[in-house]
Amino acid sequence: MIAQPKASHFVDGQYLEDASGAAFDVLFPGTGEPIARLHAATPAVIDAALASATRAQAEWARRRPVERGRVLARAAQIIRDRAEALAQLETLDTGKPVQETRVADWPSGADALEFFAGLAPTITGETIPLGGDMVYTLREPLGVCVGIGAWNYPSQIACWKSAPALAMGNAMVFKPSELTPLGALQLAEILVEAGLPAGLFNVVQGAGAVGAALVTDPRVAKVSLTGSVATGQKVYAAAAAGIRAVTMELGGKSPLVIFADADMDSAVGAAMLANFYSAGQVCSNGTRVFVERAALPAFLDRLKARSEAIVMGDPRDDTTQMGPLISDAQAAKVAQYIATGHAEGARLVTGGTVQGRFVPPTVFADVTDDMTIAREEIFGPVMAVLPFDTEPEVIARANATPYGLSAGVFTRDISRAHQVIAALEAGTCWINTYNLTPVEAPFGGSKLSGVGRENGRAAIEHYSQIKSVYIGMGPVEAPF
Ligand code: NAD
Repeated sequence: MIAQPKASHFVDGQYLEDASGAAFDVLFPGTGEPIARLHAATPAVIDAALASATRAQAEWARRRPVERGRVLARAAQIIRDRAEALAQLETLDTGKPVQETRVADWPSGADALEFFAGLAPTITGETIPLGGDMVYTLREPLGVCVGIGAWNYPSQIACWKSAPALAMGNAMVFKPSELTPLGALQLAEILVEAGLPAGLFNVVQGAGAVGAALVTDPRVAKVSLTGSVATGQKVYAAAAAGIRAVTMELGGKSPLVIFADADMDSAVGAAMLANFYSAGQVCSNGTRVFVERAALPAFLDRLKARSEAIVMGDPRDDTTQMGPLISDAQAAKVAQYIATGHAEGARLVTGGTVQGRFVPPTVFADVTDDMTIAREEIFGPVMAVLPFDTEPEVIARANATPYGLSAGVFTRDISRAHQVIAALEAGTCWINTYNLTPVEAPFGGSKLSGVGRENGRAAIEHYSQIKSVYIGMGPVEAPF
């Protein structure tokens, strides 16, 4: 099983290798087998990527938006034409079941390319009348943008960042996670095939040091990171030195609030989606499941039965519903959290036995707000269920976290649903569903979970800047 790309990097429209960069293996999480060997970018590769992006961007920005959009739309179509092969590769790179990678990862990336392709020609400025004189505004690209990805949705992240960037006339240098470097190279190939001029989307490989070198380069106008809060704090600080624009898509510990009047089957299904999809490696997961006390026994019964029916196994198998975690290190971290859950007095309802990188759907009940598993992002399939009694109480408890990525509420009471969501401190919210992230809707977090938004029209603001132009219509009146 080999998924060796033609070379480690993609710069100026073609694959590029520099074997003097530190070698690293890409492992298939399903078996731990190496599937590719790559080299981290050297300073020469980083420089070549930024130089070609800088060269290419000026001409791209002058193109009509409709032409830029046409290239992105073609890329979306190529992704759809190759859907099965791309899904298989994503499964090798991430260990996520092919059931998921067929419907979630590249399809969502193609949606982003298609959405921003259509949006590009609709972006206009405004005219501001001043009783004779006037001002008009232009929405201009930022220049060279750096994208840095996490390992949980590597190809989706590459598309979500590059699509609005390129649509607005920017260039992008993208560094995937060192654990999942393969999808972004496919995207670079596809974009060139779709007609994107060389240099506008470059991929350089490596770990944090390569990302850090990109963030501080004077040629870079903007940095968009998807990663942990700890990395976000470092990258935001480094970007601040050059007053660079940032988008930060970081971690969370999001609340999902289930009232007793909710459709309980849907609420259970949503709680499972919010904790077990992608083996729990989803930033917006609703990992603190608050259940109104009256509904708790029924909720836990159904949750246990349905969780125990989940098929865990080789992610390449069509019938597998849950695969392994990304790495031994991540599985060890999750196993440690499970041990801490036991030690701090939470009651295990199901799961809990970690075998290698495979962690079964795990549910803890009787969780209290001060327990470690209720406070820290685990990034694995571990759900904490917390009982509550009143609406004001659950709102206060749900907000008692430094994170603010997502939140959800289940109730049949329409007023209560809107009131609770209005009171929850989170950037991306759901009522009577969870974790749906269509490209049409802005996505992102508040508090420690991030700044800026991806997707929707909102993303355009984060890949462009406004120039305002004052037009004098009469003689200049100077006081001297
Ligand atoms: P991570 O923070 O370890 O790494 C993210 C990326 O940053 C990687 O490409 C890494 O190489 C790079 N990096 C690390 N140090 C750097 C530095 N000093 N300068 C520049 N780049 C650096 O995150 P991860 O473990 O890959 O991903 C999991 C985390 O990502 C979780 O916390 C999860 O919640 C978060 N996440 C957030 C979103 C979102 O949209 N909000 C989506 C997916 C994942």
